[in-house]
Amino acid sequence: MTGESQLRGDIVEVGRRMYARGYTASNDGNISVRLGSDRLLMTPKSVCKGFMTPDMMCITDLDGRKLQGDRDPSSEMLMHLEVYRQRPDVHAVVHAHPPTATGFAVAGIPLDRAVLAEVLTTLGSIPIAEYATPSTKELPEAVRKYIRAHDGMLLANHGALTVGGDLFGAYYKMETIEHFAKISLVARLLGRENLIAREEVDRLQGLRGTYGIAAPAPICADPSEALAALDSGDPAVCQVVQAPEGGGQRLVADLVARAAAPKRSAAATPGTEDEREIRLTYRELSALIEDAIRSLR
Ligand SMILES: [Zn+2]
Repeated sequence: MTGESQLRGDIVEVGRRMYARGYTASNDGNISVRLGSDRLLMTPKSVCKGFMTPDMMCITDLDGRKLQGDRDPSSEMLMHLEVYRQRPDVHAVVHAHPPTATGFAVAGIPLDRAVLAEVLTTLGSIPIAEYATPSTKELPEAVRKYIRAHDGMLLANHGALTVGGDLFGAYYKMETIEHFAKISLVARLLGRENLIAREEVDRLQGLRGTYGIAAPAPICADPSEALAALDSGDPAVCQVVQAPEGGGQRLVADLVARAAAPKRSAAATPGTEDEREIRLTYRELSALIEDAIRSLR
């Protein structure tokens, strides 16, 4: 067990890194670690995570009662307490608002596509916990649905949450989520994603043990069945990963993304009359808009 003064210093360091990397702005974000079997060491409310000192931390019990510290514990303490209740294996919790991952959380797009091997072997999939008012009891309820099966999740229109067996393990998962979100965004801007086939995903899942990574839950055998169970309010017991059958191929071009990509020319992509691209000069477009405005009057 790492000593208290070391853990205080580690929280300061992780806070500094989160702020330096732009994962938090102003006083956003919070960090906690287990201190023995019955206490938590936690960041205080209303401080910038980039400028903390070891003496600022609060010590609470597992019900959130403050035992030590000049400041009050984090405003998101309830969310942290819920994670420790649900996951005895977790020793650290990190919450931040990394902008690209949070963009996905705002768009309602989970990071659950089979795209990067290192994400599949470490986090698996990253779902989105339903929107909840920050700092209220709603947030732990939203997190409870996913936390048994996931070490990282997005929080709808809010940010991201990661957990780990130690503080740096939890923090690195936050880095992985933001990195994955950036790569996913670039691939989608480029117009397509080649997905890792289900057979290869199964192989990577088998490698989790080889790397000494203990994911909290297996990848769902039937993602649509698992999503239906989630919709009916059941907590997640496996990880939904979007991975198509490969039919012998290890990468599968994603047709959905390709269909949504901008069409380069009408000739190259014959479609229905409504979908075909047309080109107008600025003068022609202005005339059309003026016409439309005249007819409105
Ligand atoms: Zn937050």
